[in-house]
Amino acid sequence: MKGIDGKVALVTGAASGIGRATALRFAEEGAMVALSDVQVDAGEQVVREIESEGGDAAFFEADSSKESDVASLVDRAVSEFGGLDFAHNNAGIEGTPGPIAEMSIEDFQRVIDINLTGVFLGLKYEIPRLVENGGGAIVNTSSVAGLTGGANLAHYYAAKHGVIGLTRSAALEVAAENVRVNAVCPGVIETPMIERFTAGDDEARAGLLEDEPIGRLGKPEEIASAVVYLCSDDASFVTGHPMVVDGGYVVP
Ligand code: NAD
Repeated sequence: MKGIDGKVALVTGAASGIGRATALRFAEEGAMVALSDVQVDAGEQVVREIESEGGDAAFFEADSSKESDVASLVDRAVSEFGGLDFAHNNAGIEGTPGPIAEMSIEDFQRVIDINLTGVFLGLKYEIPRLVENGGGAIVNTSSVAGLTGGANLAHYYAAKHGVIGLTRSAALEVAAENVRVNAVCPGVIETPMIERFTAGDDEARAGLLEDEPIGRLGKPEEIASAVVYLCSDDASFVTGHPMVVDGGYVVP
């Protein structure tokens, strides 16, 4: 894809699933990649995979929901690679399923802290770096849950709707400064999150498959393609857009 080679990309939640696939794809396209996660061993393993293919990457431990961690993460990535061009604010958790009346405030808050506040903190510290760099692009991970309602995961759906609001607002704030901000809205993707969510429950898995008109679940690499495309020069007129990559899950 155009305009990725030789640039610097930061990916959060990069130790697993969609973030891992995006980090690998950025590296394959020639970007230097700063990976961040709370899972240190798995994150460092992805760095080794990139290096074994001749790529350039570094891992930084950071909790996306903590302001001091995110501020220091962006600083460390910029000092390591000399700048920042792209960011994928992707770290997220699924939360404990259950109806609102039985949901603890702690569980609700934790999902909002990581899935929504984490994206806000990423934007807050990444945007000034991209502006000082003369431009760049950010992609936030929302979900089909950012576009629809869903019983028994209200915290998750609320956070993912919020990510689209943040994306649209940030896009307008920085459009004139050559910074584009988009979101990706994955359908059901085969990652450890979905394995935990279905946890050996064949009926739950079959239910997720039924929600996918294309007849299979998505692959993390299919989301990585969309993220890297949205950062590339091929998407130079695309901003404030929640791109749905979902096998037809939310076709109206
Ligand atoms: P995953 O569990 O495989 O990966 C999530 C990563 O985020 C993990 O490596 C985890 O350690 C990291 N993480 C969690 N909390 C963190 C924190 N506080 N700070 C830093 N890192 C943290 O899940 P995934 O499916 O790859 O999910 C990635 C993103 O995609 C999430 O935002 C998720 O909500 C979203 N998403 C996933 C699906 C799906 O079907 N898998 C669908 C739509 C959206």
